[in-house]
Amino acid sequence: MLLAEKIVMVTGAASARGIGRATARVLAAQGATIVIVDLDADSAQAAARELGAGHLGLGANVADEALVGQAVATAIERFGRVDVLVNNAGITQPVKTLEIGRADYDRILDVNLRGTLICSQAVIPHMIAQGGGSIVCISSVSAQRGGGIFGGPHYSAAKAGVLGLAKAMAREFGAQQIRVNSITPGLISTDITAGKLSDEQEAGVRAGIPLGRLGRAEDVANAVLYLASDLSSYLTGVTLDVNGGMLIH
Ligand code: NAD
Repeated sequence: MLLAEKIVMVTGAASARGIGRATARVLAAQGATIVIVDLDADSAQAAARELGAGHLGLGANVADEALVGQAVATAIERFGRVDVLVNNAGITQPVKTLEIGRADYDRILDVNLRGTLICSQAVIPHMIAQGGGSIVCISSVSAQRGGGIFGGPHYSAAKAGVLGLAKAMAREFGAQQIRVNSITPGLISTDITAGKLSDEQEAGVRAGIPLGRLGRAEDVANAVLYLASDLSSYLTGVTLDVNGGMLIH
């Protein structure tokens, strides 16, 4: 058990076929108690129940300081600590540069980048008080290669922002034994991507992936497990590619 007695908060883990849900399952199987934070409280609770007894589901918009503050306070009240935060909640929008309106920009940046900052700000004081922790931020290959398959340039920018934010937090909080690392998934089969690629498009994408297949949510979840646990005890500020070789650099 790599996460026995650890309290792990995963944002955006209500989506049934998502990376967050797979992460919650993989980490729970390693002994972690999971706190799922997602937009809708009922869905978050249902997702937590599906993991088994003792896990917690809470409703909060990660871009809203007050709601995130309440969610973290509830988790602390219930469990007394948060050992791991997985900043996974994210949204995308397939538009081109000239089509990005102010509201689009705000929405995409708010959830992906501001949400990562707000959730980190809410847990870091507790991690400092308890003597350390691990924060894992889900960015995207889109940040590194200037677009994935679906996300617009504002999504790439938000996910690139996540990488910079994570590295700066890693530097700032290393002395307090808080490790902060990022994962850049390639194209993963989840609801974000479901049904949006024609067979032809998918074959084209696969041709560009050395491992010859799209990613599975579990592929990312296993990488989160590594960064969340003591297996990665001397890693901070890294970006871990989970992309089947789609981008080798
Ligand atoms: P998904 O749509 O299945 O899950 C996203 C979850 O985030 C949902 O449960 C949704 O309700 C939640 N969410 C959205 N906005 C929120 C908010 N404001 N507050 C709280 N929760 C919110 O998507 P997924 O594919 O599992 O994506 C998970 C993460 O992985 C995202 O950050 C995404 O950008 C990133 N990612 C996905 C892929 C991919 O190919 N699927 C690739 C690279 C990165």
